[in-house]
Amino acid sequence: MAKSPQDVLSQIKDEGIELIDLKFTDIHGKWQHLTLTSDMIEEESFTEGLAFDGSSIRGWKAINASDMSMVPDSSTAWIDPFYKHKTLSMICSIQEPRSGEPYNRCPRSLAQKALKYLDSTGIADTAFFGPEPEFFLFDDVRYDSKEGSCFYSVDTIEAPWNTGRTEEGGNLGYKIQYKEGYFPVAPNDTAQDIRSEMLLQMAELGIPTEKHHHEVAGAGQHELGIKFDSLISSADSVMTYKYVVRNVAKKYGKTATFMPKPVFNDNGTGMHVHQSLWESGQPLFYGEGSYANLSQTARWYIGGILKHAPSFLAFTNPTTNSYKRLIPGFEAPVNLVYSEGNRSAAVRIPLTGPNPKAKRLEFRSGDALANPYLAFSVMMLAGIDGIKNQIDPGDGVDVDLFELPAEELSKIDTVPSSLNDSLNALKADKDYLLAGGVFTEDFIDNFIDMKYEEVQQLRQRPHPHEFFMYYDA
Ligand code: GLU
Ligand code: MG
Ligand code: MG
Repeated sequence: MAKSPQDVLSQIKDEGIELIDLKFTDIHGKWQHLTLTSDMIEEESFTEGLAFDGSSIRGWKAINASDMSMVPDSSTAWIDPFYKHKTLSMICSIQEPRSGEPYNRCPRSLAQKALKYLDSTGIADTAFFGPEPEFFLFDDVRYDSKEGSCFYSVDTIEAPWNTGRTEEGGNLGYKIQYKEGYFPVAPNDTAQDIRSEMLLQMAELGIPTEKHHHEVAGAGQHELGIKFDSLISSADSVMTYKYVVRNVAKKYGKTATFMPKPVFNDNGTGMHVHQSLWESGQPLFYGEGSYANLSQTARWYIGGILKHAPSFLAFTNPTTNSYKRLIPGFEAPVNLVYSEGNRSAAVRIPLTGPNPKAKRLEFRSGDALANPYLAFSVMMLAGIDGIKNQIDPGDGVDVDLFELPAEELSKIDTVPSSLNDSLNALKADKDYLLAGGVFTEDFIDNFIDMKYEEVQQLRQRPHPHEFFMYYDA
């Protein structure tokens, strides 16, 4: 049973909790927080929110209009396991203090609007999302991004970033080779205990967990499996997942990264997202007898996803590094097609039995630096647009796209090859996001501006590999 505000207030009293930690997600998908003494929380806090200064959050309000309100969601309350003092944590949405309106640049509020919009279309009342964020664990990370200086070379970075072993002069016994990390037992797998602690910790916080395993990248890549859930809960779970992963890693003297392509020539880090729509408790994506047993609604949803992917990748693959992962041969799909079972297609329809409730699609191109509230919302809005406009996705493509001859491949649409291209695609294709007032022009323009800035930051710096190619040219 989800906790009500009253339950939380009683818990604070009964358990003698002195501190409340309020966490909220910024546009980039990072948690920010503020800790209050527990006497600051009362029943009204759950509707009117608690005031804070939002001026220093990247991409939010200017200093001259910075008062904002955090509204805690009582159903997300848990005791924070990483704090010394007993502290109750809650996830918040942000609202305007005076009007009580959701703040239009708050991703969690935006996702709440997206759900209302879904309901208003009459298509469905529930959207389920099953995200699969992956991550790397490293022992040490060094970089130098000072103005004008260059990063460490990719090749230097590779060697020590191998699950606790150093390459040069070190012990290479049981070293997992690149792309062979899925999934030999210990001693090859050196992170069993860390992953177990992460998974059990998440379960304790109420995240519905399933499994954990080493991932394909040999350089220390991992995944914890969580069960699908409704849009907001699932996005909340991704935030908690990252928090637990980073903090448990730290306990073990390691550092975790969700960066999409930290290691050259090894698999990158994705966040595949399984998704389905439901109405009155009934799944809408199952249609017996058709290709992959997909209903017409599911086919149109896929049509919308494939059509708008170049634009929404700006949200699902929101960094310059994201596009270094989207190259053939590393299980990160670049082709905008769908297929049953085929992991080289952007949209995979998992092979499931005759149970209509299991029918779903998996969008595989997105990565784990996506803000989950925004990523789930943009994919759902693309799907809704597909259904409303009956966008046909064409036939499923069942060949291994990574092995297809160049001539055949050139006939198939691909994802944008850079953040710059996705941002341009977003500029040109955003009506499906503005539908129902879910996104505003202000949100999209502000997002594009911030992300162009990142593109520029990178463009201005010499890359280590340029030295390799051009230094003595
Ligand atoms: N790491 C792969 C990616 O970049 C996915 C591996 C998998 O199928 O889970 O998407
Ligand atoms: Mg995986
Ligand atoms: Mg997957």
